[in-house]
Amino acid sequence: MPELPEVETIVSDLRPLLTGRRIESVRLTLDRMVRYPSPRAFVRRLRHRRIEAVHRRGKYIVMPLEQDQRLVIHLGMTGHLRVVEPGDPLARHTHLRMGLDDRRELRFDDQRQFGRLLLGAEAELLGAGAMPRLGPEPIHGDLTETEFGELVRSRHRPVKAALLDQSFLAGVGNIYADEACFRARIRPSRRTDRLTVAERRGLYAAIQEVLSSSIAARGSSIINYVDGFGIPGNNQGQLLVYGRGGEPCVRCGSLLTWTRLAGRGTVYCRQCQR
Ligand SMILES: [Zn+2]
Repeated sequence: MPELPEVETIVSDLRPLLTGRRIESVRLTLDRMVRYPSPRAFVRRLRHRRIEAVHRRGKYIVMPLEQDQRLVIHLGMTGHLRVVEPGDPLARHTHLRMGLDDRRELRFDDQRQFGRLLLGAEAELLGAGAMPRLGPEPIHGDLTETEFGELVRSRHRPVKAALLDQSFLAGVGNIYADEACFRARIRPSRRTDRLTVAERRGLYAAIQEVLSSSIAARGSSIINYVDGFGIPGNNQGQLLVYGRGGEPCVRCGSLLTWTRLAGRGTVYCRQCQR
């Protein structure tokens, strides 16, 4: 599933292509991708609006439109969002096509169909429960080390579960939660309120490090992630524990442990992570 670095990459790819463009036509071919409002209202309210900006919030792509509306896209597990030339062949599982005023098209395809499309004013989407309340962004200076420490101390749950909780911290998913715990030498099952000050600092630094280095490498291509141009990222080769259960630890050589935690496959080193 695309996490913060992958969504950040897509957003920065699409921003120059979409900002200022007007949506001339909308073709929705799978109604249930739209979670808010009704599919019919979604199409009607989207048509003829100008895209004012392209942002990321957590794992969501957020496009403020004219008249205080915003188009919000979650890529789910296998969603792709791309700007293409009008004659480009249609990718399989394309569910939404938006014709732009420069004759290009913004297309959304999603094989597994866990993606979601939302449209409305910010307060409207929050009020309707269509958009969850998200925790702070872990990078770009939105969250200081002290604030992170307070946040961690106030929760009484496994570190892995806290990191996956989007109301705690926005944008971290299974890949970067495991990677951050490994770099910080913390077992994913440790309780957040039992971490020492030094461990909280280490975890804060590790989260920033894994996210920033993945953004620099244009994301990790797990399953079928590609960037805004349809090209895979380069970070998957730099992952130290994710997807490597049973393989030797790069630090100590002992075999990495695979377990299930917070409902997700979790990989860690019994020797290095305490
Ligand atoms: Zn190790």
